[in-house]
Amino acid sequence: MAGDRIGAAEMLRRLVAFDTTSRNSNLELIDYVRGYLAGHGVESELVFDHGGAKANLYATVGPRDQGGIILSGHTDVVPIDDQDWDTDPWVVTERHGRLYGRGTCDMKGFVACCLALVPEFIERGLKAPIHLAFSYDEEVGCLGVHSLIAHVVQHHPKPKLCLVGEPTMMQVVDAHKGIRSFVTTVTGLEAHSSQTHVGVNAVMVAAELIGFLGRLGDDLRAQGDATGRFTPPYTTLSVGTIEGGTAVNIIPRHCRFAWEYRSLPGTDAEEPIRRFEEHVRTRVLPALEEKAPGIAAITTVPRSVTPALRPDPGSAAETLAKALAGVNDTLAVSYATEAGIFQVHGIPTVVCGPGDILQAHRPNEFVDAAQIDACVAFLRKLADRICVS
Ligand SMILES: [Zn+2]
Repeated sequence: MAGDRIGAAEMLRRLVAFDTTSRNSNLELIDYVRGYLAGHGVESELVFDHGGAKANLYATVGPRDQGGIILSGHTDVVPIDDQDWDTDPWVVTERHGRLYGRGTCDMKGFVACCLALVPEFIERGLKAPIHLAFSYDEEVGCLGVHSLIAHVVQHHPKPKLCLVGEPTMMQVVDAHKGIRSFVTTVTGLEAHSSQTHVGVNAVMVAAELIGFLGRLGDDLRAQGDATGRFTPPYTTLSVGTIEGGTAVNIIPRHCRFAWEYRSLPGTDAEEPIRRFEEHVRTRVLPALEEKAPGIAAITTVPRSVTPALRPDPGSAAETLAKALAGVNDTLAVSYATEAGIFQVHGIPTVVCGPGDILQAHRPNEFVDAAQIDACVAFLRKLADRICVS
């Protein structure tokens, strides 16, 4: 395949064919990308997860002795389980100017555009490098990108800026909410359901805690959003799953629920968990410990931390992305991306990519072919800006 020229749509077709649902290995896709880049003389660095079944990929086009521009994307996609698709999700199908398939919008479309343009980047003779940074496990809490950024910061000159190609309809997003997610486990004491005076009912304790989270969510809502840029205009809190108990006539010993909140940038992202933990410690646990000493317990384990993206007006990333996209304004969004993590490492970052977030994570996900064309044009302008000639 040495030196293959592959258009963005064809590249997208190839990438979608790899079922990189987050629970699977992404190595077949990574191997394919590495082989394609090697065919163009571009070397890839892989940063593996602990088990070695997944990898981030980092590759540099252009000079390697300076910071340059990161184009960032994730390789994993959300599951198709329990979704009704009209076409095969793993085969890109074009209909009425739309490219259907899992990941076409979120976000193999952007990754495909970057890869398709590598031969052009090389020919143009870049004065500053363009780096491709492709992560794993974004969809399950931005887990992979941390080790990728650590690798870059440790082994390479500090990148000048980063563009994250999540779907924004090629608008420039300079702010998004952050996410903290947790699993809370209540351990009670089993008993016959007629003997409520000796048991500790884990499900009912969990219900009480969830009631507290509901009131906490109301408080966060009342605090509002001073910027007026977000929909909805407040930090949101939600409980996503709950499981517990075995039979109606047994006082349940275990109950577990998963919950999250999405904080506005610029707010104290630790406040909600701090208030929850304090409520548990001062209001709930003492009574349980009295009833079942040494047995009753409530533990809350963090599952993921995704920092918010703070607006950074006039940053190198914002200025460049606005010029390339031909827009004057920036937007704020409520979904989270890896952008806040790059920013935490001191790399100016904005989000700009093809497709509409409304199409992501749904059956019959698609990206407009025109959006792919717009992204290709955006990346060509990027090359224009930093080429020698
Ligand atoms: Zn995504």
